[in-house]
Amino acid sequence: MSLAEKRKAKRVNCATVCPDWGCRQPGEHEGIWVVGELEDGVISEPSLQMLTPARNVAQKLGTFVEGIVLGPEEAEAREAAEEMIRRGADRATVIVGEELADRIPAVLASAIASLADERRPDVILMSATMRGREVAPYIASLLRAGITADCTQFDVDEDSGDLFMIRPPFAAILLAYIKTPTRRPQIATARPNVFPMPPRDESREGPVEVKRATDYVRARPQMRLIRSEVLRKDEVPLEKAEYVVAGGKGIGTKEGFAALEALANALGGVVAGSRRAVDLGLVPHEKQVGQTGKSVRPKLYIAVGISGAAQHVIGIREAGTVVAINIDRDAPIFKSADYGIVADWHEVVPALLREIEARRRMGSGKGT
Ligand SMILES: Cc1cc2nc3c(=O)[nH]c(=O)nc-3n(C[C@H](O)[C@H](O)[C@H](O)COP(=O)(O)OP(=O)(O)OC[C@H]3O[C@@H](n4cnc5c(N)ncnc54)[C@H](O)[C@@H]3O)c2cc1C
Repeated sequence: MSLAEKRKAKRVNCATVCPDWGCRQPGEHEGIWVVGELEDGVISEPSLQMLTPARNVAQKLGTFVEGIVLGPEEAEAREAAEEMIRRGADRATVIVGEELADRIPAVLASAIASLADERRPDVILMSATMRGREVAPYIASLLRAGITADCTQFDVDEDSGDLFMIRPPFAAILLAYIKTPTRRPQIATARPNVFPMPPRDESREGPVEVKRATDYVRARPQMRLIRSEVLRKDEVPLEKAEYVVAGGKGIGTKEGFAALEALANALGGVVAGSRRAVDLGLVPHEKQVGQTGKSVRPKLYIAVGISGAAQHVIGIREAGTVVAINIDRDAPIFKSADYGIVADWHEVVPALLREIEARRRMGSGKGT
């Protein structure tokens, strides 16, 4: 029996799962959904990245990938859906209507859950952006399904066709293989930048179905958007930065972080920090790199005064060149670094800054 046939034949005894919940036969669920998020009316990069694991899983299961986009404007939602198809989805469904304008998580989730009730997808994937982290658990709760957050890999159980949702558990040294054999859909999120952007194929086409939000939104919004404000638009977001200078507890003070900021500015990059640096109030939480922070993929990552705990280095797996500056030659960060400088950052950071500025004066551009 092929894997696709095994998956379709899969049945569970619903009474033994939970007699109070609606029956969900895994074999009756089909397709991998990727929920696409709009940012200023345009499909977000993290959503497109989720098409990479979706395609791999769909190929193993012998099924299709469908993009799901919700928004107030039909033209925008359609364009986003078509971009998802160009990046790997086989087809797309958009739900449009004024109800979705404020992007209230409970409202978005209720529309997706209603559509899922009707269509019965096997898997729903979402990027773990701020909004994705809120919407995905709502969907899971409405559908009485499980959810695995912050996955770093996906695979398929060859025996059952269940999705393996793979993520580091708290200690980050092992990988946990999580599956939900008796409930569907299988819902998971992965953080931005964990998966690469799928290539764009202009010639890829597929059907885009348009649905009206009035037919799918079942939740009454319990909150109302009164005003929204972009707090800092000047800086490149950490997830997109090409140069990142990250500081740890070894930096010690806010003044120390000002020196890192100067280095980051000279490189045209941004400052980030370890969790200890965040806990000490030296850098804001949205700049934390690692398991409970963000995953980054810069060309150059300079880790200064960071010991290199497993929970930190998991966030820099996709970084290009890693340079570590640490006073302790046995610090684990050197195992993850391409270049290591065993020295006090008080000497190294100003020296790097002087060198970059000297090169810039000589007209050789960035001093990297
Ligand atoms: C569930 C869980 C989730 C976690 N998530 C994250 C996460 O997302 N991100 C994260 O970063 N951590 C995370 N952690 C914490 C992680 O385990 C480490 O405690 C943390 O990364 C250590 O931060 P640090 O390297 O800044 O501090 P330390 O481990 O204290 O290291 C400081 C380093 O600075 C060096 N140093 C000191 N002075 C100097 C100097 N003058 N010049 C150069 N080097 C100097 C020292 O040699 C040392 O290596 C998590 C932990 C748990 C349990």
